[in-house]
Amino acid sequence: MEAESIWREIEKCNRCENCKRVCPGYLGSENESFSPLGRIKSTEKLLRGEELSKSERETAYACTLCMACELECPAHVKVTELIKYLRARLDTLGATPKRIRHVFENMSNLGSVLREPPHERLKWIDGSTELTPGAETVYLTGCIVAYRLRDIAKDVVRVLNQAELRIDVLGEKENCCGLNFFQFGKNEEIAKLAKKNIESIERTGAKSVIFSCSSCYDVYSTIYPSIYREPKFEVEHISQTIHRLIMDGKLNFTDECKGKKVVFKDPCHLGRRCGIYREPREILKYMGAELIEFKENRANALCCGAPTIRLFSPQISEKVGELLIREAQEKGVSTIITSCPFCYLHLKLVNERLNSKVEIQELPVFVHNYLERKY
Ligand code: SF4
Ligand code: SF4
Repeated sequence: MEAESIWREIEKCNRCENCKRVCPGYLGSENESFSPLGRIKSTEKLLRGEELSKSERETAYACTLCMACELECPAHVKVTELIKYLRARLDTLGATPKRIRHVFENMSNLGSVLREPPHERLKWIDGSTELTPGAETVYLTGCIVAYRLRDIAKDVVRVLNQAELRIDVLGEKENCCGLNFFQFGKNEEIAKLAKKNIESIERTGAKSVIFSCSSCYDVYSTIYPSIYREPKFEVEHISQTIHRLIMDGKLNFTDECKGKKVVFKDPCHLGRRCGIYREPREILKYMGAELIEFKENRANALCCGAPTIRLFSPQISEKVGELLIREAQEKGVSTIITSCPFCYLHLKLVNERLNSKVEIQELPVFVHNYLERKY
């Protein structure tokens, strides 16, 4: 967005503060500067040419771009556009924090948000998974799963193997989706990456791509089409794939999940941004679990507070995660299930700190656990 449009957004804001009660930054800090309005004020100050204090700059980064504020706003202020603009302006002033600059370097030099070499992406592959070179369906793991949560990648492929769906991976040719470029207003970089990633997958001849990471799915299904073009391949989130396979009678489950009290934590990218709420819930019900809901669910789901907030303001992020774990404990939930590596990692860490008995699981891992399986 250009400065003129940003001014228009700022002027739309009537200072009602409706957005405050849904913002993880505010809920975890109870500090007005960390509310959406606080960030709007920082943007306004910067546009007026005034210098921002250290804590005002921090407000730009302690935001997950979860979009909860925008759904709450009666004036339809595009808060996330303001925040991306604020970050981009701070970048031109050389104020982007070092750790984010390192992430950008990794993305440009290694094709990953992490400082890991491309060939390590394949490390999760072992004899327990069956890949079909050249298959029409490709699974993209995303950076975090490939390097830090390899069991998730394995279980995704095992579930697909069980349904006899032939699947290939891009392996070391897989490239980061570039979400951080988008979230930090680096429009040229994300546009270049959209072209590169879409075209390199199209060259493989893949007809469809499955994602287990909700952020990658969001990037390919909504962000790339908005800044470059629709890919010529289908995109599907793993919850949609598993749901389809169940409906086609390709996946069957043991009775062990029957009556297990579970709750689905809607990842912001999957839910609020892509509108996928039904499939994960239907999978869990089909498996026989007793599905209950968080007080705030679906489009109103509370963002867990990861990852940007965790990176810059870990205490705020921990407090938000704690709200979710405590609610699950009060409701007698045995497992919180999500489908986002950031929600998963963050909630797991908070859960451990609280010595909580609630389990945290990723959807494909949970599904794999209860398969009547040969894989
Ligand atoms: S996008 Fe989410 S974290 Fe950012 S200001 Fe809005 S509600 Fe808060
Ligand atoms: S809800 Fe909208 S109008 Fe109200 S303070 Fe937040 S951004 Fe401004």
